[in-house]
Amino acid sequence: MTESDRYKKAWQDRRSRIFSVLAMIVIVFACLKIWPSDLFVGGCVLGALLAAWRLYDFRCPRCGDRFMATLDGPNFWSRRHCQNCNLEKDTVPREPRQ
Ligand SMILES: [Zn+2]
Repeated sequence: MTESDRYKKAWQDRRSRIFSVLAMIVIVFACLKIWPSDLFVGGCVLGALLAAWRLYDFRCPRCGDRFMATLDGPNFWSRRHCQNCNLEKDTVPREPRQ
């Protein structure tokens, strides 16, 4: 796997983590509307929290530290740069010419 492949895979993983959070939020509201069982809604809320934790725990492909800052606030999914090395999201390094 080349370095650019590794970056592409990391950004794809980040997008899937964002999708998981949004999907779990939709599922929580669907559960509240369709099947308001305490156990089922509680399980969905727990799933949403776990998905949010996975997104928060995403590691920058360049420096390996957390991409997001702890105090990003409600716009955490729109963070554009790594908090440590300032790598812009979706950046893929160029491969050296052979
Ligand atoms: Zn970084």
